[in-house]
Amino acid sequence: MAFWGTNPEEQSKSGQAPAHPGGIEEAYHELVKSKGRAPGIDLAIRLSDMILEHAVTERASDVHIESQGANLRVRFRVDGILQDVLNSPKNSDIPLTQRIRVLAGFDPEPPTSFRNEEGRFQKMLAGRAIQIRVSSFPTVNGEKLVLRVLDRQQLGLDLEQLGMDQESLAMIKKLIRNPYGIFFITGSTGSGKTTSLYAMLKDINSPMINIISLEDPVEYRLEGINQAQISAKTGFTWAEGLRTILRQDPDVIMVGEIRDYETAEISLRSALTGHLLFTTIHTISAPSIIERLFEMGVPPFLIASSMLGAMSQRLVRKICPQCAQKAAPPAEAMVNEFIKNMDPAEGKAIKDLILKPGAEYKVEKGCPACRNTGYLGRTGIFELMIMNEEVRKQVLDHSPTDMIRRTAIQTGKLRTLLMDGILKARGGVTTLSEVIRVTATMV
Ligand SMILES: [Zn+2]
Repeated sequence: MAFWGTNPEEQSKSGQAPAHPGGIEEAYHELVKSKGRAPGIDLAIRLSDMILEHAVTERASDVHIESQGANLRVRFRVDGILQDVLNSPKNSDIPLTQRIRVLAGFDPEPPTSFRNEEGRFQKMLAGRAIQIRVSSFPTVNGEKLVLRVLDRQQLGLDLEQLGMDQESLAMIKKLIRNPYGIFFITGSTGSGKTTSLYAMLKDINSPMINIISLEDPVEYRLEGINQAQISAKTGFTWAEGLRTILRQDPDVIMVGEIRDYETAEISLRSALTGHLLFTTIHTISAPSIIERLFEMGVPPFLIASSMLGAMSQRLVRKICPQCAQKAAPPAEAMVNEFIKNMDPAEGKAIKDLILKPGAEYKVEKGCPACRNTGYLGRTGIFELMIMNEEVRKQVLDHSPTDMIRRTAIQTGKLRTLLMDGILKARGGVTTLSEVIRVTATMV
């Protein structure tokens, strides 16, 4: 397979030699050939170990195991994109899914009627302890297992590692040192919101303050922070959890997500009464957080007086340094086409930013080091909105998102996701096409 057909010289250069030099597909066929010499379960253990080892060295965030019909398919999500690593006729003498089910603490055989199965296990992989969270899903063709790889080393829990420029970083550091107020993060699933929240908590963590978090689920244990997990089943809801936390003498509170009026109201009120809160909310941009709070029924004065700011984020793939090629800026006609449906002032700013001389645009090519994708690793792009007098006035007037957004851009306090992405493309960190792909829902 071309995808795994890395030549050994290239591998040693990139320093990422996989656990089996020939890849999972080849190793699987070797295992199938050797069956009869070892019990099936031993082969399944070897196969699952090898898949997990590969997943960690290849920096996969998720492993999909689809044991469906006559086929066994394994896919890795690397840098946000799924890739086949094994797609072969299934060998029923190698019970791979049973092995994973046992590791996850499930019964070896999947339940006959639908039941939500979630489990986790820890394993030494690539020389470190890695947590794996397992979810099982019964499809009409058979069971599908998804394994989330929780690798602290990939997390990069320092604010400096998130990919923010110096100016935004300085603003964030100042903002999270406010004694009270609330700061929102928004972004789609897998946009790195949790990592940013953890990085902020870690940045301000000290023995002198009491930090409590409410999460669903608690993904990583952080030293010195009191983390609690929401459980709807036992009545420990976001709102109930928050009320309990407030009796625990907190200085800083992290609320994993605000999705209802009650949680929003308690959060914003406690931000007014001497607590610093960090939370996430589901919207597409930083300014639209305000509209979402309006929709929930939160009164404008409460938002205007408690909100410190908001950040929206996405992850873009970084261009592979080994095969990146220089590129000319896009043609003006293309840029005009791209901005034609935007707000005129914003469109002009985008156009100027793309075409301003001095850019070091790159285009992806593909080489063994990046598995021919042209990209290696990811970094964040950020839209940071700081609450100022002008924006506050708009909030009190119950203005629509467009107006708040325009005010925030005009008063110089908002650089949009697209603008931040273009700056990263100009610097040769990623490509313009990757930025446009990731921010497509924004324009
Ligand atoms: Zn490459």
